[in-house]
Amino acid sequence: MTECIFCKIIEKNIPAEIVYDDEDVIAFLDINPVHPGHALVMPKQHIEKFVDVPPDQCKNLAGVIQKIMKSLTGELGYDGVNLIQNNGTAAGQIVPHLHFHVIPRKTGDGFAHWHGRGYADGESALWAAKMRSAIESSGAA
Ligand code: AMP
Ligand code: ZN
Repeated sequence: MTECIFCKIIEKNIPAEIVYDDEDVIAFLDINPVHPGHALVMPKQHIEKFVDVPPDQCKNLAGVIQKIMKSLTGELGYDGVNLIQNNGTAAGQIVPHLHFHVIPRKTGDGFAHWHGRGYADGESALWAAKMRSAIESSGAA
């Protein structure tokens, strides 16, 4: 039996407040929300990282994320939404089953973003060149 807590929720072996469920994608409420309605959207297949999602599954996943965003800023009255996906432990991913945080926001709610560190002279051009080359060799473009 799987040790993955999100797979257990998907298999309905442990409870969660499910807000959307189809053949390939599920969304349920985060137990520790920034605001009520903070949802986690994920593929039902146990995939750890976003780069490993088959491209044909991305469309459905993106559509469900959009539906949930629209519900939060529409009928549910929020002012905005953050879409966050922690990818890898270095980036704060605790549960190793790919999930997108759809976080509803209110104007002036004080939820803090990161602070940028700026670039030294010439550093951004260097990084852009390195990235263009890395993107081309990854075949991701
Ligand atoms: P991350 O750091 O991106 O891996 O986020 C994991 C998220 O999963 C956290 O925000 C937790 O609050 C949430 N979480 C952990 N266990 C559960 C659970 N059983 N039901 C709902 N959300 C959970
Ligand atoms: Zn899993």
